[in-house]
Amino acid sequence: MHGLNSTLKEVLGGRTATALAKAFDIITVEDLLRHFPRRYAERGELTDMSSLQVDEHVTVMADIVSVTKRPMRQRKGSLLEVVVSDGKNSMKLTFFNQDFRENQLKVGRRGLFSGKVSVFNNTRQLQHPVYVLIPSDSEPDPEAVAAFARPLIPVYPATSTVSSWVIEKAVDIVFDGLDPLIKDVIPDDLIAQHKFSDLITAFKNIHHPATRADIKSATARFAYEEALTYQVILAQRRADLAAESATPRARKPGGALEHFDRNLPFTLTAGQVNVCEEIFTDMEQAHPMHRLVQGEVGSGKTVCALRAMLAVVDSGGQAALLAPTEVLAQQHYRSIRAMLGDIATEESIFDKQNSYSTKVALLTGSLKTAAKRSANLDIVSGAAGIVIGTHAILQQHVDFHELGLVVVDEQHRFGVEQRAALAAKAPEDTRPHVLVMTATPIPRTVAMTVFGDLDISTLSELPAGRSPIATHLVPAAEKPQFLERTWQRVREEVAKGHQVYVVCPRIASNESEDSDELLSDPADLTGTLSNVEDMFVKLQQGPLFGLRIAKLHGQMHPDEKDEVMKSFAACLIDVVIATTVIEVGVDVPNASVMVIMDADRFGVSQLHQLRGRVGRGGVPGLCLLVTYTLEDSTARRRLDAVCATTDGFELSRVDLEQRREGDVLGASQSGRRSSLKILNVLRDEEIIESARLDAMEIIAVDHKLDNHLPMKKRIFEVLEDERATYLDKA
Ligand code: ADP
Ligand code: MG
Repeated sequence: MHGLNSTLKEVLGGRTATALAKAFDIITVEDLLRHFPRRYAERGELTDMSSLQVDEHVTVMADIVSVTKRPMRQRKGSLLEVVVSDGKNSMKLTFFNQDFRENQLKVGRRGLFSGKVSVFNNTRQLQHPVYVLIPSDSEPDPEAVAAFARPLIPVYPATSTVSSWVIEKAVDIVFDGLDPLIKDVIPDDLIAQHKFSDLITAFKNIHHPATRADIKSATARFAYEEALTYQVILAQRRADLAAESATPRARKPGGALEHFDRNLPFTLTAGQVNVCEEIFTDMEQAHPMHRLVQGEVGSGKTVCALRAMLAVVDSGGQAALLAPTEVLAQQHYRSIRAMLGDIATEESIFDKQNSYSTKVALLTGSLKTAAKRSANLDIVSGAAGIVIGTHAILQQHVDFHELGLVVVDEQHRFGVEQRAALAAKAPEDTRPHVLVMTATPIPRTVAMTVFGDLDISTLSELPAGRSPIATHLVPAAEKPQFLERTWQRVREEVAKGHQVYVVCPRIASNESEDSDELLSDPADLTGTLSNVEDMFVKLQQGPLFGLRIAKLHGQMHPDEKDEVMKSFAACLIDVVIATTVIEVGVDVPNASVMVIMDADRFGVSQLHQLRGRVGRGGVPGLCLLVTYTLEDSTARRRLDAVCATTDGFELSRVDLEQRREGDVLGASQSGRRSSLKILNVLRDEEIIESARLDAMEIIAVDHKLDNHLPMKKRIFEVLEDERATYLDKA
């Protein structure tokens, strides 16, 4: 008999266990039982091929409609091409030098075919798929008979080494002799209350359902289990935070904030006023604020943050602004100093002319030793009321005189762990207030799940006079003349005195990509992916000849990057060819056009972020999405969505619907056990709501979870994973 913690090595033996470990990091019985089928195939039902996505590993049920063999064109050997169909659409299976398969793959047979989808000559194909054919009476292959024995055939996430039916067989073996007394994360009373089945039954129902209803009930149970786990973590965190104390930071008359407001060159929008009031109210409390401000790119979050920082400076504390990249930290430093005017001073505390002025320190990893030392000195002495930097601020030897507020810009790059590290820079009895800013708007349920320990403010309007960004698709494969027109448009824009970004997915071309007749990277339809280096040469010598062009990417030295951004901001450069280093926060009001090459390579939210870099001044922004994708592809539909709307909330829905659920929590929480496997934060709103209430009740009576040990253990694992991933990234 074995339990959930037994290793598969003991239960299955070395070979399968090793393959599963290698392919999916599945080590224990529980890992395997939590590797849920992606779909279920019904014997009589063929897989709809139009839904298959390029690059995805799929298992399809299909009929063989033709088999042809031909010699390879450019090298020795032969190619076996098998066309399979779902009755409407078809795809090609290709086998190189495997003629013997001709005897198995006969026209008219039906089977499951498993492999990675690629595109060649505009046709979807699977290269060297593994397969099982539905057994014919004349040929009772036991593996095939077993694979089709069930009314609903589970189709597992699989790889070329571990097929769906290998996993199915492993699951069978694991169920055999499984200890029936396994511990459940969901407490008994909640199981009863929600009318869930016990854990083993749920596992059986999800792996070997007799009916679709079995799948539904098991899925609901596992979704709830995930939701409950996260909500308990968040409830615990909220309880911990509520117990912390902070120095209240009340606004003082006659200080930097008042001076700043008096000299502000514009009027705050109503939204900005509201958000600032929420922040000020929070900071007057004796426990730390934890607030997320979300608002479209350009909605004016920075001004809100700056006002909060000045209020803290007025009350004798320091405020730190944490940016995700060096470029962004430097840019914040410059623009904030410009906005502060004479509030930012170089004078020491002793010979300061104005009561309202303070030093502004920049601290990033690339600073020279001397500059770093002097920044550190200003930070530890309290001379710098405002500190701007990257995660270098998080390092242990950086000490604050009195850290009162931490502002984190663009939360999606910062995990909970980083926030905690910064908070730990203040004594336990005076935790800093924390303000997080994000331009990626989040649907409510996602907010509840991912940022469940933060209060949320939303800036929904853009400052007046901001022109909307028009976004158009440039389908370069079908309409190459559109791409020519794109470069003309860039020249026209530069002639008008405006500036342009060209964004590429890569820095340099990847030489290791070899090509042969079967090369399947979808980008191969066009050659390789656009990259900064090649684009620079190509544009400089070709369509943008004579313009002032510069490169900007992550492998450049920070000083060099900074230099380029400065020259670009000063209009000394017409066109910057960049990677996504310009994604967040970069602010050059005179930039009016952005061309995004191979736009399909970027996520929806990322594209939305990127295009927010243009149209920031008075000039209307234009964003051109260049793509070589096929017209009816999923990638293309994503791009169409980006062209169709500039509503960030709408786009983040589109984005989430198309991503795997596991990605929802972002990289910081995508560990093996902790990722959301079943829970769909958009679909499962009700589940999340009820789990949230249940979690609060659990934590209210059992904060340390000593009466909920399986849950305690699960949470430990989830957090352990989160920590591991954090360390990986650091
Ligand atoms: P976000 O950080 O939300 O993307 P910023 O705070 O960087 O936006 O603001 C974008 C630009 O708009 C900045 O140049 C800023 O000075 C300007 N701005 C902010 N608030 C207003 C306002 N109420 N009226 C006019 N311009 C504003
Ligand atoms: Mg910003």
